[in-house]
Amino acid sequence: MTGEDFRELMDAMADPLVACDGDERVLYLNPAAERMLGWKLEELKGQPFARLLPERMQSFDGQSFLRYLLGRRRALGGRPVRAFLLCHEGPELEAEVTVGTSKEGSEERITLVLRRLPEFPDYTDEPLERLLSSVAHPRGPYPGAAGTRAYQLVFENAPLGLFHFDTTPILVACNEYFVRIIGASKRRLIGLNLFSLQDESITHCVRDVLAGRHAYYEGDYHAVTSGKVTPVRTHFAPCFNEKGQVEGGVGIVEDVTEQRSVQAERDRLFREAQEAIRVRDDFLTIASHELKTPLTPLSLRLASLERRLERKEPVDPTLLRHARQHLVRLAALINDLLDASRIEAGRLALHFEPTRQEAIVERALTSMDSERGQHRIDYSHPAESVRIRGDPYRLEQVFANLLENALKYSPADSTVRVTLDVRGDFALLSVADEGIGIPRDQQEQLFERYFRARNVSVTSYGGLGLGLYISRDIVERHGGRIWVESEVGRGATFYVALPLLSAANPTPPDPRPATGSSQQVH
Ligand code: ADP
Repeated sequence: MTGEDFRELMDAMADPLVACDGDERVLYLNPAAERMLGWKLEELKGQPFARLLPERMQSFDGQSFLRYLLGRRRALGGRPVRAFLLCHEGPELEAEVTVGTSKEGSEERITLVLRRLPEFPDYTDEPLERLLSSVAHPRGPYPGAAGTRAYQLVFENAPLGLFHFDTTPILVACNEYFVRIIGASKRRLIGLNLFSLQDESITHCVRDVLAGRHAYYEGDYHAVTSGKVTPVRTHFAPCFNEKGQVEGGVGIVEDVTEQRSVQAERDRLFREAQEAIRVRDDFLTIASHELKTPLTPLSLRLASLERRLERKEPVDPTLLRHARQHLVRLAALINDLLDASRIEAGRLALHFEPTRQEAIVERALTSMDSERGQHRIDYSHPAESVRIRGDPYRLEQVFANLLENALKYSPADSTVRVTLDVRGDFALLSVADEGIGIPRDQQEQLFERYFRARNVSVTSYGGLGLGLYISRDIVERHGGRIWVESEVGRGATFYVALPLLSAANPTPPDPRPATGSSQQVH
């Protein structure tokens, strides 16, 4: 038959026909095929047939769709297979395809007969038999179609995604749960060749099953039909018949989105716990060093004192004073440790009473006399007494800690300015130094437990990183606020705002940078 004859014959056929050469390039479309697909012959002529196929139909078991069909011709026995084809414009089209080859001289010619499948109503509401028997696939209607109603109900209502595929391996049945997980419709899923899936780990599992082995897949499933990505866990098992032959496979799918987020939350908590343990371990090391530091000079002085007393030599009072200073330092560290653990346990007791704040500040200043060295301390306060309601002992501890830090973190001959003032309903104390300052990103963290600046140059100053943590707890329990303003290298100013005794309903000032200056505390 000449090419011309062949074309005439094709045109005369009512069924849509497509002819391709041996390289799967389109040679001819008859008018019925043009109408069905919406493509004109001129547009497709010479183009690969694969242009008519959606992505998931491009490859079957490593072969092109046409080669795959031709290879299975004998098994198909002339029956059509179901396929999806791309129309010129618009959606995919479902069709039955029969394929054959002939010779045109020495050239191979592949001819496809197409039949459009009727648009059937959405399967999902249909009884299973009807659904399955309406699916054309190489093995004919799904054998389970004749199964009992009870079987169908179990299959449909199982609280897991279930699917069944035959040896081709075409998906011949699946339940609603599976459809929900995958996010497509039965209509799109049933008839899908599992070898056409992009995900190789799944096609691997299917291959294992067809070889009679169980398989397991865990990971993200990218649905080709809906584009949805779902984390799943899937168990695959072969279906053996009475003769022990594999007749296909079954899959049980579990959507593990929720377990994944629970796991992610657990991992996060675990990391946090590990970090907390690390911080505590570091702290214990630092605390041990800090507690040991005063011990050596203390024991040296006591030894020297002992020797002098034994030899009945006069005792130098500075020796005793130094020894006492080291003991005081040790006691202060231990007190900080105890206070911090009391705060943790919610047991740091405060005893409130009407009191004069300037008196507390003055006591704190006096307690710092021995640490002052060459520092100048300027202190100013209003002429009138600043009456607050507070715990004098604990507030003295807060102010002393601020003064101690100001002295510790600024040069010996610099000035520390302590100012007590009244702003609206609040008494505002500021302690300003001319020291190393604090980087902006650490200004909030300073008040956290164990926080010590990461600036290497200050490590020699020592400290447990507890003073400001304790101070903040005390100040806030007074209804007040504590904050810092600072620039690196230009000193730091710590503020403490405490409600006045006369204040009816004081709202603590907002210490954030925009409103943090003392001017704005009203
Ligand atoms: P520490 O006992 O370590 O001084 P604090 O809680 O009192 O503990 O202070 C925490 C950290 O805040 C200190 O390690 C220091 O880095 C920083 N800091 C506190 N006050 C000042 C200040 N006036 N100037 C610079 N840095 C300061």
